[in-house]
Amino acid sequence: MCSIIGYSGKLVSAAPLLVEKLKKMEYRGYDSVGIATLNDGNILVSKGVGKVAEVDEEMDLNKLPGQIGIGHTRWATHGSVNDKNAHPHYSCSSNIAVVHNGIIENYQELKTELTRDGHTFKSQTDSEVIAHLLEKCYQESESNVKETMMKTCQALKGSFAFVAIFDNGIIAGARFDEPLIVGISDSALFLSSDVLGFLKYTDKSVFLDNGDIVIIDHNTYRIFDLNKRVVARPINQVAWELGKSLKKESMHITP
Ligand code: GLU
Repeated sequence: MCSIIGYSGKLVSAAPLLVEKLKKMEYRGYDSVGIATLNDGNILVSKGVGKVAEVDEEMDLNKLPGQIGIGHTRWATHGSVNDKNAHPHYSCSSNIAVVHNGIIENYQELKTELTRDGHTFKSQTDSEVIAHLLEKCYQESESNVKETMMKTCQALKGSFAFVAIFDNGIIAGARFDEPLIVGISDSALFLSSDVLGFLKYTDKSVFLDNGDIVIIDHNTYRIFDLNKRVVARPINQVAWELGKSLKKESMHITP
């Protein structure tokens, strides 16, 4: 079970925060790690095989510039454990990058179709189809992220959660049978598979329902269902029992 995280804020740089939070979620298990940030309209990706601290030391993950970013620790299911298969995965024109948790069951047929349309794949993962499908839908919808997310999620089969970063500064996530939580603070918004991905910065969280799609545009977030309707989800407060270690079992959720 790997971890995904997304961050859109204004107070701190994204990369050191993403690295710190990926370390907090290490207990979930993984084989490789990577992050992507947005800087001056360009999405930068850095990733590799190993522990978060090792890859950070080797690749200087925490030095990627930018205040918006996504991160991932991978537990390989499709494709061997190597740097190319580590997440995030780029679209062809690098205008989108994606981190994914779970399995895309129909990835082979989507890959065949997308390859026929001219997309080039760099990894053996099922996850990379999401990046290329988003790119295709983004192009067809004239850069409408909501439309892009709806069309992409409608085409995917399997159990998955993913977070995508777009070169216009939007971060979007989808939850289909894998966890995804929104963390809300005054100065930043977070997306994570685990509350440990944002605790310390905020205890306010929205647990997405299955089938929810969330779009974070800098300091605002909106949640939609697959029929494009805005849906309201309650904001919960995650409280820690003081004195206990940062373990999942010590967490209580109160509405
Ligand atoms: N199926 C994807 C892969 O093998 C994601 C696995 C995961 O959940 O980390 O890359």
